[in-house]
Amino acid sequence: MSKETLFTKIINREISADIVYEDEHTLAFKDINPQAPYHVLIIPKKPIATINDIVKEDRELIGQLYCVAAELAKTNGFADTGYRVVMNCNEDGGQTVYHIHLHMLAGQEMGWPPYTNKMKA
Ligand code: 5GP
Repeated sequence: MSKETLFTKIINREISADIVYEDEHTLAFKDINPQAPYHVLIIPKKPIATINDIVKEDRELIGQLYCVAAELAKTNGFADTGYRVVMNCNEDGGQTVYHIHLHMLAGQEMGWPPYTNKMKA
C-alpha cells in the first residue's frame, strides 16, 4: 500500500484544505464532506497507513492527536458540551484514506451506536 495519500498532498500544500491547526508533527483541517456542524480531521505528518501500522515509537505522536482535539474543543467551545473523536481502521471500520486521521465531530448531539448496518453473521 502506497505511503503517499492525498493527505500527504494536503500537508505539502499541493491540495488546498481549510487548516485549523498545525504544529511540527500534526495538522488539522476541515473535512471536505462534514458529518457534523464541526468536523475536522487531525493527522500526524508522518504517513502511517492504519492503526495496525502504529509502532511503539509513535506513542507520543498518537497522544498529540488527542491533545490537539482537546485544544480545538476548548477554543471552539465544545469541551463542556461534548464531542466525538473516532479513528476508522480498514474497510469494515469505514477507512477510505490510508493515512491515519482522528475525526473530530462536534456541534450537535451524537448518536450511539455509530453504525447503521446489521452485525456480520
Ligand atoms: P475515513 O473514511 O478514511 O475515515 O475518512 C476520510 C475522510 O477524508 C472522509 O471523511 C472524507 O470526507 C475526507 N476527505 C476525503 N478527501 C478529502 C479532501 O480532499 N479534503 C478534505 N479536507 N477531506 C477529505
